[in-house]
Amino acid sequence: MTTTAIDIKEEILQLKKERNAVILAHNYQVGEIQDIADYVGDSLGLAYKAKETDCDVIAFCGVHFMAETAKILNPNKTVVLPDREAGCSLEESCPAEDLAAFLDANKEKNYYVIAYINCSGGVKALCDVIVTSGNAIDIVNKAPQDRPILFVPDANLGAWVMEQTGRKMDLWQGSCYVHVEFTQSSINKIKEEYPEALVVAHPECTTAVRLLADEVCSTEKMIGYCQNAPVKDIIVVTESGMLHRLQKEAPDKNLIPGPTDKCACNDCHFMKMNTLEKLRDCLRDLSPTVEMPEDVRQRAEAPINRMLEQSRK
Ligand code: SF4
Repeated sequence: MTTTAIDIKEEILQLKKERNAVILAHNYQVGEIQDIADYVGDSLGLAYKAKETDCDVIAFCGVHFMAETAKILNPNKTVVLPDREAGCSLEESCPAEDLAAFLDANKEKNYYVIAYINCSGGVKALCDVIVTSGNAIDIVNKAPQDRPILFVPDANLGAWVMEQTGRKMDLWQGSCYVHVEFTQSSINKIKEEYPEALVVAHPECTTAVRLLADEVCSTEKMIGYCQNAPVKDIIVVTESGMLHRLQKEAPDKNLIPGPTDKCACNDCHFMKMNTLEKLRDCLRDLSPTVEMPEDVRQRAEAPINRMLEQSRK
């Protein structure tokens, strides 16, 4: 590590102390941010940590909807994020106005609306319950039987949950631009190179890719899967930042990033907008912060809390 990087790390730790801040980082962040964070995890783990913290400031290293979820759960805390422009293609695929118009046009259906956490606060405010990839199956299994389900915004995750639960759902046609880039041919090619390898894939991948996987699960569940796998080689079909976390948690395994047809591994450019420098700056300046209208926040908080309660059972 360069002297500059060491200096920036020290500055971050000093600012963290001064601000009484906690640093939360998603599994897809660059390694150096994961290494300095107080907690690294998936959306569900991060939501719990955000709810439980007694720090004054939450520095959220992920994308905007994640920091927004932390703010929804902690209206009196200052939530900062390193780069305000770190968005998400899934969030973009389901604007709150479009969902509101769809629900309005389909009032007679009386949809029970389930939203994957990868959506805006405005969308969360229109939903009955939120899910993550780690708890979606359990929560869909608990949904009322007497109402049709609308699942937003990820059609691929929704299709996987339908397969797993047998519950029919109407699916919003959104997708993660990173996970849909893995293809049947790119995964088959890497399997030829590592014929003994097991394949673990994220449920945001397409059905064609999921069918090639030995296991489909959330990033957090990938850790246990890799640790306990009876083979050394494991092909990990998700965003490449996950490899850093996995390599630490399963050091004896040879973890191979899932390739696309264009490159050997796949980065989310939104997640990679965050840097150590920007993390230092947001702690120093307490900016950019996450803000939202209080009425939207309150309406978005209820379905998140419903998820947290149902996940504990
Ligand atoms: S990896 Fe996909 S779902 Fe996650 S933040 Fe990036 S675009 Fe959104």
